[in-house]
Amino acid sequence: MAEPKTSELMEKIVSLCKRRGFIFQSSEIYGGLNGFWDYGPLGAELKRNIKECWWRSMTQLRDDVVGLDASIIMHPKIWEASGHTSTFSDLMVDCLLTRKRFRADQIEPQSGTAYFYTGASDGNGGKESKDAFSVLIATGKHAEYARKVAKQFYQARGIENPALLGERTEEVKDTTRYNPENGSLLTEPRPFNLMLKTYVGPVESEDNKSYLRPETAQAIFVQFKNTLDVSRQRVPFGICQIGKAFRNEINPRNFTFRSREFEQMELEFFIRSDEVVQKLAGSVASLPDAQPSTLRSSATEDGSTLNPQPNWGWELWHKYWVEQRVKWYESIGLGRDTLVEYWQKKEELAHYAKATVDILFKFPFGTQELEGIAARGDFDLTQHQKFSGKSMEYFDEEAKAKYVPHVIEPSAGVDRLALALICNAYCEDQAPDEKGKLESRVVMKFHPRIAPIKVAVFPLLKNKPDLVKKAKAVRDLLRPHMSVFYDEAGAIGRRYRRQDEAGTPFGVTIDFETLGEQGPELQDTVTLRDRDTMKQDRVKISELVSMLLERIR
Ligand code: ATP
Repeated sequence: MAEPKTSELMEKIVSLCKRRGFIFQSSEIYGGLNGFWDYGPLGAELKRNIKECWWRSMTQLRDDVVGLDASIIMHPKIWEASGHTSTFSDLMVDCLLTRKRFRADQIEPQSGTAYFYTGASDGNGGKESKDAFSVLIATGKHAEYARKVAKQFYQARGIENPALLGERTEEVKDTTRYNPENGSLLTEPRPFNLMLKTYVGPVESEDNKSYLRPETAQAIFVQFKNTLDVSRQRVPFGICQIGKAFRNEINPRNFTFRSREFEQMELEFFIRSDEVVQKLAGSVASLPDAQPSTLRSSATEDGSTLNPQPNWGWELWHKYWVEQRVKWYESIGLGRDTLVEYWQKKEELAHYAKATVDILFKFPFGTQELEGIAARGDFDLTQHQKFSGKSMEYFDEEAKAKYVPHVIEPSAGVDRLALALICNAYCEDQAPDEKGKLESRVVMKFHPRIAPIKVAVFPLLKNKPDLVKKAKAVRDLLRPHMSVFYDEAGAIGRRYRRQDEAGTPFGVTIDFETLGEQGPELQDTVTLRDRDTMKQDRVKISELVSMLLERIR
């Protein structure tokens, strides 16, 4: 089947998300609210599965990471210390004609003929505007296009019937100063702070101003000491958190990819500085001497897992977390071929970062960031030490020294990942209908680990009480172990299709064989249908739970 075009594909995905209840526009009955989304029944399950998988791999399957669940609104000083109050901004520009706002770095460079005006006077005499204005049109396009836009600009300034003044033209190349939608000049870029403000308490004063957190990470830094005191951890160790974050994005777009409210899954992994490692281990392992024997664990089959060593400095810990994270994405169904590791160039790094790797996913609308993994030195803890006046130092018994730990931060977005998984799962293929005729089907090929519903249970026919009774018994048998969907309505083929669209990896059908009507050997067996291959196997009911658990874990 021909691959659908990018925009066509995204349209199909967005429409399936609504139709099947993965994602709805927030406040839809009131016209929606730009940058906010709600997750329907299937989406809510998908998100929960993502978060549970991440939490399990970060905390329950490791000894060296503990969890935290902090408040969304925190002391405003935190955002001064972290730098968010002064620098967490994007450059924005406004269209001088429509007032539409854009992120300056998202304007594509354009070339053409720019028409400049020094002002306009009212043809009926009287009013005059001395505001300069300019319009960009494609070279060769009629001047009237530019004049029409310019006249609208002056009309909006109260000149009813504008006669344009001082027209001159200039050929321009690769400019980002004009609105790509109408050619109007944009304002000069100016910073726009992305933090959403609120007031704590009944008085709306500067003193009570606070912010909805723009990231979950800072809570981890400010609770570093408390967590350390109670968790009996020693550096190197990590604290992780899942929670909502808010950013007043200038231009939310690409469905849920850039939203104003979203969830993050962040880990702060605290390590010794290279100086402390050097003192303790005699030297700091560097990347080239780490490959392949010292750092590649001989125990793993693929030989790609870096195995933590006492002589690791920040570089190896950073590389280790990049690998861990990519492996985790693979474990939930995003193959390496769908991901790109982008190592930020020196000039792209934040001032405190020693290195940052972005894990990108190949979305239908472009290859874009899913997660950033940054080596942040001791910047954050040192800042909070300075601003709070409280020590953030750790006493290292082995090194017999006190120091502020350094940190590696893998920071991922739940919503972006949910969208990546949905895009990755979307598939159109051919399947036979009731009469064996091929028809096209939409199937969401989620990895069973994150699939919203794990198994659907169907009685072959709704009007046979024995089939229905047995099917309900099978449903009740499976329910304590996994999410089950019971469906008795409609032809069996149509019920399969519905579950294919929901991404349910397994279907169990209770038929007359199950009841023993075709002989005792098949009594208490069911058909187990695989969503992707559509193959059906005969399986004993007594073996169903263990067989399915093995496949969904
Ligand atoms: P971008 O450059 O795309 O704005 P960022 O580099 O600012 O992202 P971080 O501050 O590193 O993002 O946030 C970590 C993760 O949080 C991102 O990789 C992404 O998955 C998620 N995230 C950040 N901003 C948004 C948003 N507006 N909507 C949805 N997810 C987001």
